[in-house]
Amino acid sequence: MGKNIDMDSSDFLKTGYRFIDWINGYLTNLENLPVLPGVKPGEIKRSLPQSPPEQPENFDQIISDLNEIIVPGVTHWNHPKFMAYFNSTSSSAGIFAELLSAAFNTNGMLWKTNPASTELEELTLNWLKELLGLPEDFWGIIYDLASNSTMHAIIAARENVEGYSIREKGFGGVKNMPRLRLYASEQAHSSVDKSAILAGIGLEGVRKIPVDDQFKMIPSELEKAIAEDKKNGWLPFCVVATIGTTSTTSIDPVNEIAEITQKENIWLHVDAAHAGIAAIVPEMRNILNGCEHADSFVVNPHKWMFIPIDISVLFTRKKEVLKQAFSLVHEYLKTDEDDEVTNFMDYGIQLGRRFRALKLWFVIRYFGREGLIKLIREHIRLAQELKNHIDENPNFERLAPVPLSTICFRTLNPNFSDDEGLNKFNKDLLAKINDSGELFLSHTILNGKFTIRITISGLRTEQRHVQEAWELIDKEYKILVNT
Ligand SMILES: *Cc1c(COP(=O)(O)O)cnc(C)c1O
Repeated sequence: MGKNIDMDSSDFLKTGYRFIDWINGYLTNLENLPVLPGVKPGEIKRSLPQSPPEQPENFDQIISDLNEIIVPGVTHWNHPKFMAYFNSTSSSAGIFAELLSAAFNTNGMLWKTNPASTELEELTLNWLKELLGLPEDFWGIIYDLASNSTMHAIIAARENVEGYSIREKGFGGVKNMPRLRLYASEQAHSSVDKSAILAGIGLEGVRKIPVDDQFKMIPSELEKAIAEDKKNGWLPFCVVATIGTTSTTSIDPVNEIAEITQKENIWLHVDAAHAGIAAIVPEMRNILNGCEHADSFVVNPHKWMFIPIDISVLFTRKKEVLKQAFSLVHEYLKTDEDDEVTNFMDYGIQLGRRFRALKLWFVIRYFGREGLIKLIREHIRLAQELKNHIDENPNFERLAPVPLSTICFRTLNPNFSDDEGLNKFNKDLLAKINDSGELFLSHTILNGKFTIRITISGLRTEQRHVQEAWELIDKEYKILVNT
């Protein structure tokens, strides 16, 4: 045997300490970095060699490029003033778990190919279920992202329709059967449409249900749509309700929606990708009211639970349907334990799987239920406080309720009375704010109005950051309104 061309153990230790130092420096210095990089498209690619190195390079060279070229091109999701979209921040416990997961480098497709990852996944998902107060009979599986969790739920819902056998025949082989229809609110995430594309339902198979003035699905409109579709020969098969919509974090009335899906015998999937985690906080538990009736439910620990991306969890009470939809076991994958254990490959598209349960386990243990409650509760408190500042300021107009920690608003300008002018003004204001490098906010459109969105759910976001954010917004507003 020749010399191992990977690092020897003393180099590994030296380099390892160096990287831990590096990460520590990075995390402690985050606040001094611009949250949004000031790079132009193509700049990063052009700064690096266009061909791979012929000769081995050492970590001095690699770290130098990391510092000079990569860091200035990173959008710092861990930054305390990253308040755009929905946060995904990584805690130290999550970082260490990722490191170990790469070191183990297991593929948990079968129980046998890593009993620890399989059983830790089963255990930690039971913990998560308990933390969120979800029903006992929910069974969970980890996927990468909510889009994928929802896709699996919708394909299971399709499998659940009697008499179709689309898994076997494909849509082309299904004769004289009504077209399938799926329902979600106008505010539902685009992953619902993407899932419909993938499941062969097609975009025409997705019917968007109107929302009320708080951006919640109107159950009577859902009922009407289902009745109308049935009359016109469609087969309603699935409703997706959202807890914490992407624009405003509105919460669909799941109890009322569940009454309809139960009556109609339709699969109910709940998308709680971002907001679901807030149910760890006892006084927020009620956001999940009605979810006990769901057939499937998605939540992303990588969003508000301080676990590095990616980890999404799908819970379902129809585990056997999910399995029926996806299981295909070739001879080489059969094991002696198949009857006693979970082989997660049976419940989805992917065969191989990363050891993601490790980071869920580390983070829950590191913070404990109490630690998580404290962090999330504080985010909600900070957001409610900021909401009050916005409400008290006559130059600002809030555009949606704030059930959690996301605030939607725009600013007013005496020079414009119409939406068109205000839309441009607010868009310019947002660009100014984001160009400052001190704060990153995102936007949406609500009832034709350009809306600025602030979300407070980052691990490192404290009162002073929210205060600074508010001062910056107000300052940029005053500059812009006077130019
Ligand atoms: C974030 C989010 C998604 C998409 O999540 P990914 O994990 O990025 O696929 C879907 N729905 C809602 C409500 C979300 O907040």
